[in-house]
Amino acid sequence: MARILDGKAMGQQITQELVPRVEALVARRRAPGLTVIRVGDDAASEIYVRNKVKTCRELGMVSEEIRLAGTISTAELLAEIETLNGREEIDGILVQMPLPRQVDARAVLLAIHPGKDVDGFHPYNVGQLVANAAGPRPCTPAGVMEILRRAGIGVAGANAVVVGRSDIVGKPMAMLLLHAHATVTICHSKTRDLPGVCRGADILIGAMGRPAFLTREFIRAGAVVIDVGINRVTDAAVAGAIWRGDAVRLQAFQSRGSLLVGDVHPGDVAELAEAYTPVPGGVGPLTIAMLMANTVQIAETRLG
Ligand code: NAP
Repeated sequence: MARILDGKAMGQQITQELVPRVEALVARRRAPGLTVIRVGDDAASEIYVRNKVKTCRELGMVSEEIRLAGTISTAELLAEIETLNGREEIDGILVQMPLPRQVDARAVLLAIHPGKDVDGFHPYNVGQLVANAAGPRPCTPAGVMEILRRAGIGVAGANAVVVGRSDIVGKPMAMLLLHAHATVTICHSKTRDLPGVCRGADILIGAMGRPAFLTREFIRAGAVVIDVGINRVTDAAVAGAIWRGDAVRLQAFQSRGSLLVGDVHPGDVAELAEAYTPVPGGVGPLTIAMLMANTVQIAETRLG
């Protein structure tokens, strides 16, 4: 039987461990502060931001959401960030993606002070990551490393295959695995013989955004499989193909009209893997937990 790596429980564990650190900061100076900027009316962003703000407050941290019109210009958004850079009580600044087309996302990334960059996306912090020097690490890949560590999965010497090379997941994921002494292969849409390369993985990471793409031909028996993908399936035929034989899931799909699936085929991974993260309830909860951890860490650094 494959081991299910329970991201929800691990995420709760991580946030609980932050409580005494937040209390110590409050006793010494003040609570850590996180500001999340949300631009426009993207429905998914609204839920993500709400969850981030809520978790912050549950931990006794100060959190504010700044909502800006979807018509905002790059200059106006940069001015908001500049104000936040200068506010002493704000430790972390996060700009929720995606941004409207007219906004220069790169300029926004560069404008956030690297010392307040809770996402770890500023080029300075990307450099720190590559150099294996201190700095905030991107939350989702950092969460994956926590899952591996807390589940006691050995990374040193393992063959790790990361499918996806985005700046926010694939590339930092590969770098963190490399620093943990894995032998890392990064795959993308031009990779030749993707199934063969993936079957060479002791640790397979799916971070591509393709529903249930990584099926049994990609998974070596006994591998550890981490599924970063979050895809909403709305097509009944696609749902039928993914959850064939899983009456509970198909029933849930029918009553809700949609269901989440990762990049890994849920039935195949359960049969073949030694351990795997489910979707939902795997990597997702770790992302918020690591955002909290980054905010606390930054506050500790800033407050001395
Ligand atoms: P992205 O920017 O769209 O990048 C996708 C990557 O996958 C690209 O590098 C792409 O290759 C590769 N890819 C796509 N199709 C492929 C194929 N058929 N074969 C091989 N490689 C393929 O996506 P992202 O932002 O990294 O996100 C990836 C997934 O993770 C999404 O489902 C997203 O929703 C999810 N996600 C989850 C969390 C979380 O908290 N759990 C956080 C962030 C993202 P090319 O570079 O060649 O195009």
